[in-house]
Amino acid sequence: MIEVEKVCKSYGPVQAVKDVSFSIQKGEIMGLLGPNGAGKTTIMKALTCYHYPTSGRITLDGIDAVENPQEVRMRIGYLPESAPVYPELHVSEYLDFIARVRGLKGERKTQFLKEAVQECALERYLHHPVGILSKGYRQRVGLAQAILHKPDILILDEPTTGLDPNQILEIRGLIRNLGKEKTVILSTHILQEVEAVCDRVLILNDGSILAEGTTGEIERSMKGELVYSLLLKGEIGDGAKEDLENRPGVVKVNALEASDRGFRLECTMDQGEDPGEILFDWAVEKGYKILSMTPVRMSLEDIFTKLTKEGGAYVS
Ligand code: ADP
Ligand code: MG
Repeated sequence: MIEVEKVCKSYGPVQAVKDVSFSIQKGEIMGLLGPNGAGKTTIMKALTCYHYPTSGRITLDGIDAVENPQEVRMRIGYLPESAPVYPELHVSEYLDFIARVRGLKGERKTQFLKEAVQECALERYLHHPVGILSKGYRQRVGLAQAILHKPDILILDEPTTGLDPNQILEIRGLIRNLGKEKTVILSTHILQEVEAVCDRVLILNDGSILAEGTTGEIERSMKGELVYSLLLKGEIGDGAKEDLENRPGVVKVNALEASDRGFRLECTMDQGEDPGEILFDWAVEKGYKILSMTPVRMSLEDIFTKLTKEGGAYVS
């Protein structure tokens, strides 16, 4: 539903976004992940028609963002990096103001306001000035203004930055909930956020896309192989490590540690095979009892460091 094709954006001599292309399907929660200065906000501003790309094309359900910005804006709710709230207005006054800006009137306005307030759990704070609310609640007010006109698409620029851990969990929960009905694009520099909230991620650095896919896909493509940690009961027999290493699908085996509980092997496996089955069959055949078998995950953090240091490559 959203197509971004070869978009570049320069601020004078600064090339903030370089030849970025991606598409987002209806109902997806897509994360733009990248360090400060990666170009996340610049892309979001282009999507919301706050500014136009220097070159390239953005369409939304086939509607061109440069030719029909008004149409595009109507379908989008936007929470900018610093929520545009007026501290002296009461929550109800502020939301009413936004509703009028959005062209809502009468019964429809009342109904839409009520629903946004409910969805963001703001009922108790309607008559508080926005400025005295905690940052978490101010962010809820920001979300309420973004969803007020019932847009299909939500664009949230670093929605949890500056919040405390509890507030972060609350806002993430709210976003996941909104994501059940809407297409959501959110930016973050927090890797866990992507894993916690997003269906798909686009990793950006220095204005370019380094990788795209689900977090699982990115992990797999980065590794090219899977590592399993295998804990077996008893003592390791002579030649067991070499024997396992000679099985099809097994790339390498490291004997890690021996303890009272047993011995641990770290097994690097080929992608295609079913690694769990290969390890299980081997252990049964050799009479070893498996105490645990867990895939060793390469964290998004490892991936991110690898990609941003090595220049990276496209995936998926
Ligand atoms: P992010 O949101 O990922 O932190 P931005 O999109 O804000 O990144 O910025 C991308 C690059 O563009 C940075 O180098 C930033 O300094 C530059 N930039 C952003 N806005 C402007 C602007 N209005 N004028 C000049 N340069 C800008
Ligand atoms: Mg930004």
